[in-house]
Amino acid sequence: MPSDRYIDFANSDMGRRLVKAVGLPTPTRLERWQAGRLRPIEGNLLISSGPLADQVRQFAPRLTDAQYSLDNDVPDAPQWVAGQSPRLKAVVFDASGLHRAEQLVQLRDFFKPVLRELERCARIVILGHAPASLDDPLAASTQQAVEGFSRSLGKELRDGSTVQLLQVATGAEAQLEGALRFFLSPKSAFISGQVLQLELNGNQVQDWSRPLAGRRALVTGSARGIGASIAETLARDGAQVLLLDVPQARAELEALAARLGGQALALDISAQDAAEQLREHLPEGLDILVHNAGITRDKTLANMTPDLWDAVLDINLQAPQRLTQALLDNGTLRSDARIVLMASISGLAGNRGQTNYTASKAGLIGYARAMAPILKDRGISINAVAPGFIETHMTEKMPFALREAGRRMNSLGQGGLPQDVAEAVAWLSQSGSGAVSGQVLRVCGQSVIGA
Ligand code: NAD
Repeated sequence: MPSDRYIDFANSDMGRRLVKAVGLPTPTRLERWQAGRLRPIEGNLLISSGPLADQVRQFAPRLTDAQYSLDNDVPDAPQWVAGQSPRLKAVVFDASGLHRAEQLVQLRDFFKPVLRELERCARIVILGHAPASLDDPLAASTQQAVEGFSRSLGKELRDGSTVQLLQVATGAEAQLEGALRFFLSPKSAFISGQVLQLELNGNQVQDWSRPLAGRRALVTGSARGIGASIAETLARDGAQVLLLDVPQARAELEALAARLGGQALALDISAQDAAEQLREHLPEGLDILVHNAGITRDKTLANMTPDLWDAVLDINLQAPQRLTQALLDNGTLRSDARIVLMASISGLAGNRGQTNYTASKAGLIGYARAMAPILKDRGISINAVAPGFIETHMTEKMPFALREAGRRMNSLGQGGLPQDVAEAVAWLSQSGSGAVSGQVLRVCGQSVIGA
């Protein structure tokens, strides 16, 4: 895999001194989930007070063996006092009770002392309500203010720490455990400053050590890069995987499928009979559909030829639309299925020389948003994941200056790894993650691009 030499250098003995002397930033080597790990949090978790915080406290012993509270009368959660208590690896702040601007100071009062007491790669989650779900305009405004706060906090955090805001609908509290197992653990290493809504959903993960056990998954474009990592991560979490890539990649595809105990299918997703071939290979149906295959054919619009335009639109957007509809129509996609579309932050921001690519990626985001309400009755969720700069063959081909800028222009000062995108896809593929649908999850280190 292509590597980021600056981060290796800046974290070496000699590099650290030199980088400090010339005043360059030192991106932290991010902690990532290692196979075999059991607990989402290895360290101390501070949970604030509040109704959603009380729900979190009920399952917190499954997340860590050390939880703290702000009060001195919470059973099994000693009071945490800044400067006296141990440093924190994870923090949950319940902002759902903030309904007036005067109450926003509680954010300052809570976080100011906490910030100095964070361990490396600490995880913060703020819980609130979606402003649109509130009738009272002052309450809605206050909850929107929490969003602004959380995004700035992400930019101020240091040493690989991250923050997200989860807006929890009434009745969706039961889905908090799945979301916090992701956002309070190293699985979300390259995600920060994001806002997601959790909606009511009846499904629950049965076994947290293999959350995708018994589920069948298809990952397109999985011979290499992000797709290969997604297939590997879904298999790690217990899914049966069908790996798909173009016939030219058959050798790598079959080798990876064999290693993962999955099946390989050499097929171009833009082929006329692609849907039919997929149905034949999935006689028992499909629970997880990951449209990851994608290409770039960059040219400014003035130089864009019809073949470059058509190839990108067809493979990146029309094929996922066609295949999704066909697999729904022919009954291959089962009820409670999870669909994930691989977008890109450039689909949100636009990018010079990529009118075809960004149109296709924005189109996927629009497709997820529009399909979510249509699929809701069948319990099917559909979301887009938007990676920022990820270290792969695709980004290795970028010109040097553009590549360096892409890598550093985010709150974590580095590019992500394919595993970071794969962990997000694996979380959205869980049965309980039906609580999230029609949304975009950026895996970009809080990139300034398209924010
Ligand atoms: P990659 O080029 O390394 O891998 C893409 C895979 O898709 C390849 O194995 C390729 O053979 C396969 N593929 C292409 N066309 C296909 C077709 N018609 N049918 C079947 N398979 C096909 O790219 P990657 O960096 O791993 O990117 C994976 C996805 O993530 C793409 O959709 C890409 O647009 C998106 N993405 C990547 C980045 C990044 O920084 N690398 C950023 C944002 C989005």
